[in-house]
Amino acid sequence: MSDITTWICTGCALLCEDIQVYAANGRVEKVEHACMMGKSRVTGCKHIAKPMVDHTEVTIDKAISKAAHILKNADNPVLYGWGNSTSQAQIAGIELARVLNAVIDSTSSFCQGITINEILQGQMPSCTLEDVREKADVILYWGADPMSSHPRHLSKYSYFPRGDMRQHGYEEDRKAIAIDVRQSRTARICKDMFYRIPPGSDLEFMKALLDALDGKVPKLSFDLDIKRLLELATLLKQCEFGVIFAGLGLVYSIKEDIQILSGLISKLNELSNFSLIPMVGHFNMRGFNHNLFNETGYIHRVKFTDKGPVSGIEFSIIEQLKGNADAILIIGSDPLASLPGALSKRIEDIPLILIDPCENLTTKAADVTIPCKASGIEEGGTAYRMDGEIIELSPFVQSKGMSDEMIIQRIIKEIN
Ligand code: SF4
Repeated sequence: MSDITTWICTGCALLCEDIQVYAANGRVEKVEHACMMGKSRVTGCKHIAKPMVDHTEVTIDKAISKAAHILKNADNPVLYGWGNSTSQAQIAGIELARVLNAVIDSTSSFCQGITINEILQGQMPSCTLEDVREKADVILYWGADPMSSHPRHLSKYSYFPRGDMRQHGYEEDRKAIAIDVRQSRTARICKDMFYRIPPGSDLEFMKALLDALDGKVPKLSFDLDIKRLLELATLLKQCEFGVIFAGLGLVYSIKEDIQILSGLISKLNELSNFSLIPMVGHFNMRGFNHNLFNETGYIHRVKFTDKGPVSGIEFSIIEQLKGNADAILIIGSDPLASLPGALSKRIEDIPLILIDPCENLTTKAADVTIPCKASGIEEGGTAYRMDGEIIELSPFVQSKGMSDEMIIQRIIKEIN
């Protein structure tokens, strides 16, 4: 006989709350309502990490002691990752950074940090996914392909469901628009409301759209029918409740020119009613930004000093690896699978501590590996959904291991 649990999926930052997991004797037998990404999250690691020091298996206590020794003796330790950790582990990590006068940064440093910062600084209006489901009549996916990255996004919240104010659903009540460099799966759903733009031209398109909203004749250096751009401006002006889902394509393209995107949202709010929600990937990447902001006033790239925390581009993981970092703790991330070769090599050249439930490429290079419970599956806590709502996680597997939060608390205790 299976136990049935309703699970909050931690496969992505949509944190779907309606997953049914059927388990017997600690084994998952069936999963209902999850997408493929969610199902593979439930089934967990292919290879579970083991406590290791210098590639030799040790007790977890010994691995923790070695990690504390490395961090305590480093002049410029860096703590990095955090997108797959609960808020409780992130807050413990911020305390560890404070104790060590260390640099702390997260995967948001490469991606949605700039949009989340604007929202937290009050420069960009946002809304909840429930608002989108109940009220939105215009949905703009910009550089985002949720059909691939967050597979239940359109069906649960953004396009297909009927809402209080959108009883006729997508057939009559909602318009979906995609602006992207390729015709993604999401763009195909948007049909003739897909605007294909050349790579790196998002800022140019944005400025042309601002001109169109101002009643000026927009100009573009690439091939796109200006009439279609004017139609888009008219649709955006007339909407009752619009939302822009900002994807990585947009964020990578505009880089640090975020104020132009904020300017577009301000202009849209003079004319109609618009919000922005960042398409956050890892299930609690946004949580790190909120938790660090609550503790320091900064969202990432922070260095703790005797005079307090400071933030700047020089404290990003990339600049630290190019510069002074002399030890690194990585948690819930696999940077050796994603960073450029030269930076990966640098990580391998300094003492590397990894806290993760699973073996990955970074484990192979780690001097110290400390296995932790899988957040949201074996361990509870809270996480921030992509729209900033706090969600209580619902673990369904009993396990004897230590959570990442407990491991960090133990490291702090040994350092003190
Ligand atoms: S969309 Fe994301 S949160 Fe929802 S089931 Fe799929 S992976 Fe899980």
